[in-house]
Amino acid sequence: MSEDCIFCKIINGEFNTEFVYETENTVVFKDINPKAPIHLLVCPKAHISSLNELEDKALMAELLQTVKDVTKKIGLKSYQTHINTGKEAGQVVFHLHIHILGKEN
Ligand code: 5GP
Ligand code: ZN
Repeated sequence: MSEDCIFCKIINGEFNTEFVYETENTVVFKDINPKAPIHLLVCPKAHISSLNELEDKALMAELLQTVKDVTKKIGLKSYQTHINTGKEAGQVVFHLHIHILGKEN
């Protein structure tokens, strides 16, 4: 856990954020400022600042599996996934996350 990381605090339960889905090493919650009718964020529980710092291949697989499983759980068949990596690419929160963007089911 990184003490000044907002997503670590969310994952640690400090804001009572509802988790839409959770696995051993990942968590999914709603984006606070949704840019689509459904806007979820898939995060590793461990503090990894961006995709550039992700080295654990099992965790890479688990993150994508989580995307598949949470979208299936909520019945979302069509969706976009975005990962912003680095400030110039629009990354604002430096705790790795995969955006899931979709319309209503
Ligand atoms: P980035 O631009 O880093 O890829 O995306 C960061 C996302 O995190 C943004 O879409 C923003 O709305 C979301 N976000 C920022 N702070 C919070 C927060 O405290 N709670 C939640 N649920 N989402 C947040
Ligand atoms: Zn973090």
